[in-house]
Amino acid sequence: MGKIFVNQVGFLPSCKKKAVLNFNSKEFKIIDSKENVVFTGQPSHFGTDEISGEDSFVADFSSFTQNGKFKLVADDSESTSFEITDNAYDKLMHDICKCFYYLRCGDALDEKYAGPYYHKPCHTEKATVYGEDVPAVDVCGGWHDAGDYGRYSTAGAVAVAHLLYGVRLYENLLNVKFEIPEEKCDNGTLPNILAEVKVELDFLMKMQREDGSVWHKVTTFSHAPFIMPEEDKNELFLFSVSSLATADIAAVFALAYTVYRKYDTTYADLLMERALKAYGWLQANHNPLLFKNAEGSNTGEYPEPEDYSNRFWAACALFEATGEKKYYEDALQQKEKLVAYDESEEVKGYQGNVFTCFGWADVAGFGSLSLILKGDNNALTELAIKSFIEEANRLCVNATENGFNLCMKKEDFIWGSNMELLKYLMVLTVANTLESKDKFVNTIIAGLDYLLGCNSMDISYVTGNGEKAYKNPHLRPTAVDDVDEPWPGLVSGGPNIGLQDEKAQTLPKESAPMKCYIDHVDCYSLNEITIYWNSPLVFVMAGLLK
Ligand SMILES: [Zn+2]
Repeated sequence: MGKIFVNQVGFLPSCKKKAVLNFNSKEFKIIDSKENVVFTGQPSHFGTDEISGEDSFVADFSSFTQNGKFKLVADDSESTSFEITDNAYDKLMHDICKCFYYLRCGDALDEKYAGPYYHKPCHTEKATVYGEDVPAVDVCGGWHDAGDYGRYSTAGAVAVAHLLYGVRLYENLLNVKFEIPEEKCDNGTLPNILAEVKVELDFLMKMQREDGSVWHKVTTFSHAPFIMPEEDKNELFLFSVSSLATADIAAVFALAYTVYRKYDTTYADLLMERALKAYGWLQANHNPLLFKNAEGSNTGEYPEPEDYSNRFWAACALFEATGEKKYYEDALQQKEKLVAYDESEEVKGYQGNVFTCFGWADVAGFGSLSLILKGDNNALTELAIKSFIEEANRLCVNATENGFNLCMKKEDFIWGSNMELLKYLMVLTVANTLESKDKFVNTIIAGLDYLLGCNSMDISYVTGNGEKAYKNPHLRPTAVDDVDEPWPGLVSGGPNIGLQDEKAQTLPKESAPMKCYIDHVDCYSLNEITIYWNSPLVFVMAGLLK
């Protein structure tokens, strides 16, 4: 029987709506929950493409705007159910924001807020500074990074950046309510999202040394086995400082200063003091201080080959926060280095324009956002705007090359492909904010449809959202907590043509990129979760629902 792929969560009434069929049918019907036919249409043949592994037929029902819960049927096949309503994404938005609470480290998760996912305090011991004979340091707090229990400064800074730039651009994010301990919200004076982000900011402050530099990560020497976080009692180590972490922290503290000063000037001033301290260290240490794992340690490395995008971001964020021209001059210098590096032969990481990238390594896109928020008329701001528009146009062309209107190409289906997608959707969201266009919005919607079930796996890549949402993330607590389902709102890494884990390698070698996925706990290269795969979705949803 043929398959019908559709966004399993739903659609806003005014937006483009489609399903993709992998078979030919004269007609498709939309039926309501009482099986009444409420809309009919004809699928159009798209054909094959390089990513989906399907001969696609597109069922467009954009003109159907009735509110309710529906299914799409054609011949003997039917889709999962989906909603059409202005509130279609309320639960999704709640879940993806609340997700960070469940990843908190240090504090116990109270049953009142965490339900069956509660756990005792974890990783509360002081951390040993690796290779140095100095007292152990308190770095308790923050969020677990991913499927493991490590906490990494650059990854944490980037997740916070997705969320706080989201707040700066789309204030509706401040109205999202989710259940977290009230005292963390300063008893109601701090919006939920800012209270949750403060948990990570407080931790990142602890990662900064007296001289302003920032430790790259705090983890046990090797990954813990699959146990609950409070059972992971191995010694914690702070591994060496890096200019990558120091620059990202300078940037994100400067950004946070611009957000929190409206609520708590003392806290905001502290953020700025720390940002300046980090920046001071960067100025005294011009050469990149990159990061490599200690011999024999297997926890996340988050390596980067240069620190130009990080220093660019730091300069731009401080320029925006302080208005001081010297930071703009620094940003200009780093921009030159970044361009020269990006054009050098041996490099090709990110597929798109480097000044629009929001990754854990390539962070210049955040610098561009700071320039746009500052709103001055200067060369770098012009470059930032031009880059977002050009990149968004490139993505809209990609979206015409497959039946799912997905803005990705074959080479984007790497480890964490859903983050590649979400970074692209962020670019489109920013472009649409700069210059509103239907094609930008439609490409965002198609990307969201893909993430939520309109893909040739017929699966929603956000837990608890969609009838066929994936259920087996590579995530330690979920694997051992005796609760059937993971907590809702976790974004999976998604399909990956690299198939880097043993279980993934059981897939046929010739699998289409979109089908290089298995919902299995062992598939760390296909099905892990991370804080910075969730955070860009929050940004995109805030932009869509503004
Ligand atoms: Zn912990």
